[in-house]
Amino acid sequence: MGNALFGRGSDKHVGSKESGLEIVVLGTGAGATHIYSKESSSSFVVLRDGEPVLLCDMGYGVTASCLQHVGRVPACTYISHNHGDHAGELPLVLAVEGTAAAAAGRPLLALLAHPDVMAELRGHRLRELHSTGRPLESFASFHEVPSGTATPVPCCGSGSGSGSGSGSGEGSRNSNGCGTSGRGSSSRSAAPGGCGLSVRPFRARHSETCYGLVIYDEGRPVLGWTADSGYDEELYTALAEAPLVLVDARAKGSAEHAGFSDLARIVSLPALQGRQLYVTGYGRQDEAPRPADGVPAGVRLARPGLRIALQPAPAARAEAQAGAGASRAGCGGAAGGDEGLQGRSKEAAAASEAGRPGGHAFEAGSGGTSGVRAAVRV
Ligand SMILES: [Zn+2]
Repeated sequence: MGNALFGRGSDKHVGSKESGLEIVVLGTGAGATHIYSKESSSSFVVLRDGEPVLLCDMGYGVTASCLQHVGRVPACTYISHNHGDHAGELPLVLAVEGTAAAAAGRPLLALLAHPDVMAELRGHRLRELHSTGRPLESFASFHEVPSGTATPVPCCGSGSGSGSGSGSGEGSRNSNGCGTSGRGSSSRSAAPGGCGLSVRPFRARHSETCYGLVIYDEGRPVLGWTADSGYDEELYTALAEAPLVLVDARAKGSAEHAGFSDLARIVSLPALQGRQLYVTGYGRQDEAPRPADGVPAGVRLARPGLRIALQPAPAARAEAQAGAGASRAGCGGAAGGDEGLQGRSKEAAAASEAGRPGGHAFEAGSGGTSGVRAAVRV
């Protein structure tokens, strides 16, 4: 593989119709990254069959990155905590999207957060909307997602029609992510779980009340995400229910952010064995971990534009094959499981199941057809 190991992975950006479930990384920025460097704060968006259905965090720079990479703001947004680099753009996006949706008769954007985080958002982050004299409910629909259980994502509403990116615009896309045609109706928007996704928050170790997630597809865990968190074995173990885990880590660790030096401990945790581990939240691209940082083999690097196929854990996948699609209420699109995850996804599955023996540090799984194991020069 030679130099290819250290070439940048061939990111596939949204534009062609993909099947199955995947995420697109929108940014890896930390607190002040976007303010001083214009690179997006850490965030990712979940796509179903090529359509964005769930945005995870909306800090500074995320909206522009979302429009750049997937064309519009999806119908649902989950916020992990009320820090500017995770929720900073929320008030204005809700104002723009809410006003546009109301004018067009479309469902409002659905905002998801743990109840404690939602209280922070409503009372502080969204305070500037109070001056409009309009209730917050006129800008978005609010969905509290408690920890301890998986809550269906109401992602089958119509998404943004106000984005300026390519492909945005009312009627130009089916935004419900479910493979159905036409704009989402109010009833579809209100129907929880219509797209098959559900989310279960897990408390992270952070200065602000913060909850990461496990995301499920038809009840099968597909992604764990720490959001912002200091080193926390209990959290990592819980998230490892999913075959792929996104971990917050930066060059210098602290009580509220894991450090690159913690990654070796994380990958050695029993629950993490056989899991794909991606690092995010490290800041600018030139602050990404380097070989000299001692990051263990197999740890991969999230970076803007990276697409990663999601699929259930092997056991759950076998179960899914037996009854593929049977429980996918409200969605007529491709079912989860291997059937809907072709080509590169199977390659990703093979990499996951192999536990990445002999893998290379800083593998930047491109998620593209060129292979998920191409490494990146950092
Ligand atoms: Zn934070």
